[in-house]
Amino acid sequence: MVDALHIGDALLHRTVIDSAPDGILLVNRSGTILGANRAMERLSGHAPDQLIGQSVGIFLPPHLRERHTTLVDTFFVQPSTRPMGMVGQLQLLRRDGGAVPIDIALGHCEADGQPLAAVFIRDMTEVSRLQSQMHYQATHDTLTGLVNRWMFGQHMQQALMQSIRQGRPLGLLLLDLDYFKAINDTHGHAVGDLVLVEVARRLKGTLRAGDLLGRLGGDEFAVLLPELMAPDDAATVADKVLRALALPCSVQGCSVDLGVSIGIACCPRDATDADTLLRYADMAMYTAKDGGRGSYASYAAHMGHRFEESLRLHDRLKLALQHDALALHYQPQVDVATGRVVGLEALLRWFDDELGTVPPDRFIPVAVNTGLILPLGEWVMKTACRQIAQWAADGLRVRVSVNLSAQQFRQRDLAERLQRCMATYGTPPELLELEVTESEAVADPEVAQQVLTWMGSLGVGVALDDFGTGYSSLSYLHQLPVTRLKIDREFIQNITSNADDATLVRAIIVLAHTLGLPVVAEGVETEAQLRFLRQHGCEAYQGWLFARALPADEVRALVWPPADGQPGTLRLA
Ligand code: C2E
Ligand code: CA
Ligand code: CA
Repeated sequence: MVDALHIGDALLHRTVIDSAPDGILLVNRSGTILGANRAMERLSGHAPDQLIGQSVGIFLPPHLRERHTTLVDTFFVQPSTRPMGMVGQLQLLRRDGGAVPIDIALGHCEADGQPLAAVFIRDMTEVSRLQSQMHYQATHDTLTGLVNRWMFGQHMQQALMQSIRQGRPLGLLLLDLDYFKAINDTHGHAVGDLVLVEVARRLKGTLRAGDLLGRLGGDEFAVLLPELMAPDDAATVADKVLRALALPCSVQGCSVDLGVSIGIACCPRDATDADTLLRYADMAMYTAKDGGRGSYASYAAHMGHRFEESLRLHDRLKLALQHDALALHYQPQVDVATGRVVGLEALLRWFDDELGTVPPDRFIPVAVNTGLILPLGEWVMKTACRQIAQWAADGLRVRVSVNLSAQQFRQRDLAERLQRCMATYGTPPELLELEVTESEAVADPEVAQQVLTWMGSLGVGVALDDFGTGYSSLSYLHQLPVTRLKIDREFIQNITSNADDATLVRAIIVLAHTLGLPVVAEGVETEAQLRFLRQHGCEAYQGWLFARALPADEVRALVWPPADGQPGTLRLA
């Protein structure tokens, strides 16, 4: 080793090892510690020289020590290296009896002819704190402390299975406050928030311990009743809720009239799957609202007129596909630091002669329910691949992100289809990125792992869309070969006014960076939001602040203005 500092080799090694941020231990075949660096003292509370000669078992709770000895033996039979992040949920027992979450990497070496294990120990306290904070925020509504829509859905799946197994009816109440918008408009959002908290408190007061209350969003709440004797008992609970909310309510000196409309659906009487049950409760709730508010209604088959509407959408959409009446628009993604356009997101647009402009949030769910999403997704893929190739042939190399639906994601031959499509148009794979929602990637980890690995081997990027709306464990994300994270618009919307959202966005950026992933923020509408993102090191953004999704020729003129031909130098807004 070159010794430019004129200090001895041994001293140099010691200095370097002691300055390492991670704890380092040298351990022999019998599990005895032969060396420890200074960071070990910070981690464990033992001074390095006190550790020499001790068994590594002192860092483990007593019940794990025996098993660990076997692991040490196995290691020395076939010494190998192991990077960080391979084993989840490790803890180190401190001298004072406390436990520190850690991650461990292993190396092996030899000294005086004896094989040694080099153990690198990283303090994960901060990362796990952020992770549990993220978990809480991803599963709860921070205003009322109730479980959020996603978590409610998880509980509901389980409760449904149990209900069917035990042959016991399960009730679902969907609650929507009446005139909540008026309360917000008249008294302001601060009072509106307190009203929601008060509603949550009253609802909790009327329910039994086994019932589950969640806030699905805005002024929408839901109650799961897993312990019904008969379906009609759900109506009794609804009645109790109505009476509890009808009592006078005063918040910050303002007297407000509370009222709620409730829709009821029961398993197995009405449906046995969560989506249908929620939809039916929703139809019943709208019926209650139409019937004069402050009341409840139970689902009945005639409420299916909304279903007919979706049939009509389906028919028109099928025609639109056949007659090429759909369009892809492209929304720029901009580098936060330089203001340059670094990519485009392809978004579907549909104008129908009879229905007018139909937003994707309305027709995509219909396409998903009717299976039309597959041909639709195929059309999007082809159109995007052709456009990328056409731009590339004109010398405009820009990455385009395409949204992948859950059904496409589960298609067995997705990789082949994609490869064929890119080959047909001569699309450079590095210019294509697929957006997969976080919840989809987490729903079936094995499929996700496989599909995303294929994408990686094709050279296609993968962004995790709507990040933050579902709960993913960090150790799992670690193993997913994704290339970017996208933070959902829902969180960006309020980063400058809501401290919880600001914290969450900051945590996501930090976590993404610990995984080495760049972040794109969605739905940026104001300079203040952009400033926040810049301050916290977010790499890119998209949103109306820069541009909406535009037709191909318009986006081309915006990103590559003919005047100077410089790609992406134009900065609007
Ligand atoms: P997404 O993937 O989360 O797309 C982002 C949505 O945010 C787009 O809505 C976009 O127009 C909108 N947006 C972007 N910037 C702003 C902003 O600054 N403010 C506001 N208020 N909104 C902004 P869009 O185009 O209506 O699409 C809605 C959803 O429909 C998409 O959400 C995506 O889930 C789905 N979708 C759209 N196109 C496709 C597609 O080709 N395939 C599939 N599977 N889904 C698609
Ligand atoms: Ca998207
Ligand atoms: Ca999104």
